[in-house]
Amino acid sequence: MIEVENLVKRFSGKVVLKGISFTVHDGEIYGLLGPNGSGKSTTMRILAGIIPPSEGRVVIEGINVAENPIEVKRVVGYIPETPVLYESLTPMEFFSFVGSIRGIPKNELEERVERLVKAFGIEEYLGELIGTLSFGTQQKVSIIAGLLHDPKVLILDEAINGLDPKSARIMKELLNGFKEEGRSIVFSTHILAIAEAICDRIGIIYNGELIAEGTPEELKRFAHEESLEDVFLKLT
Ligand code: ATP
Ligand code: MG
Repeated sequence: MIEVENLVKRFSGKVVLKGISFTVHDGEIYGLLGPNGSGKSTTMRILAGIIPPSEGRVVIEGINVAENPIEVKRVVGYIPETPVLYESLTPMEFFSFVGSIRGIPKNELEERVERLVKAFGIEEYLGELIGTLSFGTQQKVSIIAGLLHDPKVLILDEAINGLDPKSARIMKELLNGFKEEGRSIVFSTHILAIAEAICDRIGIIYNGELIAEGTPEELKRFAHEESLEDVFLKLT
């Protein structure tokens, strides 16, 4: 479970988040939607403990993130908007590196790498340098790396970006599987059809404020619109 309470974030005086609150329950996929620059990535970086909030707090699985940024990393899988990878390593070397810093037992690591690499169909790239791979393949490496420690909570910042339709489908299936296992997932995307298909609830951020929240059906009813795209265009 993720509890976000009244997050405020200022960058050198500029207020970027103006009091964001929401809760993501176990087994729930929560979509964070909003225009460019509205504050989605900033919110997710605070959730993942990468940057501290100026005010407010985040509690994940009972752990106060700002007070325990290291402990929280054990339960959170964070996949950033821009993959953070070592270009001069191969994917296999990178997964071993992630496994060692996360303290994942060797047999578990091997089993998870094998399953996820197969799911995304990137077996043929395992021995190549990450820096030479296409953006979408790098994105897959980043997603796999973020899942290796079997996190209870997932924070995915535009993780479907750059994935081809087949890989996006695999990602959707993975997320639905995680949801069934009772994990909590926060997910941002600009692809509204995907948000509508997989999110249980959606929060729309505009200019650092959560201006609407609900199931896709509730949002459409609230805004008197037929599609999530029309809701989004009306509200933002
Ligand atoms: P996008 O859809 O383009 O990814 P976003 O909703 O993720 O947008 P953020 O990246 O959270 O938006 O940015 C929100 C605002 O915060 C922007 O105005 C951005 O310039 C500002 N911002 C983010 N990080 C910093 C930083 N480190 N220093 C100063 N301003 C920042
Ligand atoms: Mg962003």
